[in-house]
Amino acid sequence: MSRASRYDRQIRVASFGTEGQDRLLASRVAIIGVGALGSRVAEDLARSGVGYIRLVDRDFVELGNLHRQHLYDEHDAEREEPKVLAAAARLSTINSDIEIDARLADLDAAQADALLDGVDLVIDGTDNFRTRYLVNDWSVREQRPWIYGACVGTEAMAAAFLPGRACLRCMFPEPPPAESTATCETAGILPPAVALATTLQTMLAFSVLTEPGSVPTKFYACSTATGEIRSFDLPSQSAAACPACALRTFPALDVDTAGDAQVLCGRNAVQLTTQSEHSLEALAERFRDHAPELRKQMLRIDLPEGRITVFRGGRAIVQGTDDIARARALFDRYIGD
Ligand SMILES: [Zn+2]
Repeated sequence: MSRASRYDRQIRVASFGTEGQDRLLASRVAIIGVGALGSRVAEDLARSGVGYIRLVDRDFVELGNLHRQHLYDEHDAEREEPKVLAAAARLSTINSDIEIDARLADLDAAQADALLDGVDLVIDGTDNFRTRYLVNDWSVREQRPWIYGACVGTEAMAAAFLPGRACLRCMFPEPPPAESTATCETAGILPPAVALATTLQTMLAFSVLTEPGSVPTKFYACSTATGEIRSFDLPSQSAAACPACALRTFPALDVDTAGDAQVLCGRNAVQLTTQSEHSLEALAERFRDHAPELRKQMLRIDLPEGRITVFRGGRAIVQGTDDIARARALFDRYIGD
């Protein structure tokens, strides 16, 4: 199949043309999180011919994802397949000409360079401010553009943050307090809000990758309940006290203070970063009476109080609670640190 025929209909768009196509094919993009936002942006970029797409995600597919996450199906949910692996497999059947690089990992301060470096653009597909601040701080430090996205209920938001301009921390110096923030757990999410946020993110990605001089420097906030799309100019200058772009201290990249536990939105689950890496094979042997499921990169154990999934590399997800202390207690009781 020739490239010309695959991309013909977008090359015909006068403002895009063969030059735009060549730029996409030469582009390298990292997408952090391949849930609702990241999986749709990944599909759009793969179909459009972005030459290299790195997918970073820590989670696995569940039935409750399927109403809004197009890359996954019931088979993936039944097997609780890691999202990056399911996404990479699906994307490579959509476009086998491009490179898909799947990383089953949690983006944290210690792994930021390994997971973010070597790309022209980073796209936020996450659901939490902890990771967004990390992406922001890394991108400001490394002078790399990144695209923010969020959706909850019927609301969608997106913005491109470009090197040398104000950043996410300038706009939101503190993360909103967890108890005051609507999440997909408390407020739910409708597919049109996902589609709107990802359309804006893909629009901004095209702009960054093919026409970097004319990227809209706006924050978009939209409602699929009212059909209203509002946009605000992003500040063009750093806030004087911004720890990232003004003071250049990048707190989210400080390995010593990075958080090591967090509640996973909508999952009744807690993720823990463990002090040491466990041998999955040894754990499988220890829990053989519980019929553990050992896969290449993870071990899943069903226990009376919940399910614990241990990943290679020192990370675990405890399902059956959204209480960090209880999750730690269960992990310590069964696995030990
Ligand atoms: Zn800033």
